[in-house]
Amino acid sequence: MPELPEVETVRRSLLPVILHKPIEYINIHYERILQHISAQDFSQQLLGNQFLDLTRRGKYLIFTLENDLELVAHLRMTGKLIYYSDAKIPLAKHTSVVFGFDSGDALRFEDVRKFATLDLVRKAEYGQVKGLDTLGVEPLSDQFDLSHLQGLTKDRSTKVKGLLLDQTKVAGLGNIYVDECLFLAKIHPERPASSLKKSELKKLYLAIKHVLQDAIENQGTTLRDYRTGYGREGSFQNKLQIYGKKGEKCPRCGVDIKHKKVVGRTSHYCPACQREPL
Ligand SMILES: [Zn+2]
Repeated sequence: MPELPEVETVRRSLLPVILHKPIEYINIHYERILQHISAQDFSQQLLGNQFLDLTRRGKYLIFTLENDLELVAHLRMTGKLIYYSDAKIPLAKHTSVVFGFDSGDALRFEDVRKFATLDLVRKAEYGQVKGLDTLGVEPLSDQFDLSHLQGLTKDRSTKVKGLLLDQTKVAGLGNIYVDECLFLAKIHPERPASSLKKSELKKLYLAIKHVLQDAIENQGTTLRDYRTGYGREGSFQNKLQIYGKKGEKCPRCGVDIKHKKVVGRTSHYCPACQREPL
C-alpha cells in the first residue's frame, strides 16, 4: 500500500506535466471510485476545468481546480495515477478513470483492487472525505519535532507501532516505514508509547524524518503495484533494512530478524537491537 513517500513521489512526478491543461474529456470506466458524486456531475464540473496545483496531505493527493474545487485522490491498496504523454496508448486493463487534456496527453487512474477513491469537494471542505480532516501532523513538517512526539506519547499506553500507524496522530506512515523507523531507532514495536525515554523519542523522530526523506529521494518502495506518476518503479525496496526480511540477518548485529503480528500488522524487528518490553 502506498505510504507518504510513494504518494509524495507521485505528486512530484505529476506536478510538472498536468497543470494548466484544459480537461477535454473524462472517461469513467469504474464509477464506484467516485465518492458522493454521480459520474455525470463529476464530468460536468471537470470538463473544461484545469488543475492549478497538486498538494499532498498524509496519503491523500489534492488537485486544486478552477471554480474553488478540489479533487481528492486516495490510492488505497493498488491505485496508480499515471501520466501518458500520448493519450492513444492503449488503456491498461484496470483503468478506472481517464482525464484527457486538450494537448493530446492524459492522466489515468488505474487500480487493480478497486479500493482507491476520488472525491470532488469545494475548496478545503474536507468533512465528507473520510479521514482527511482528522489527519495528524505531517511528519516532514517543522511542526513535527521532539516536543510534538513527546506530546503524542505522553500518558499513552498504546503500543508505539499502533500510535505511529494511527493517521490521526501522524499522517502518512504505514507498515513498511514504521518498521524501518523503529529499527533505526532501536525500539521494539510493542513498547508502550509512554515508556519511551526522551533519548529514544529523539532517535525516533529523527529516524522518521530520515527514512521518509531517503525513501522520497529513492522514489518510494515498489514491492508489487506501486509506480511513480511516470509508471516507473521506485527503488527504496533495495534500501529496506528490516521490512520483509524475515529469516535474514540483522544488518546491524547479525542476529536473525523476526516477525510477529503487532496491532494486527505483520511487523519485522531485530530481537537483539529492539528489546522486547518486560
Ligand atoms: Zn540487530
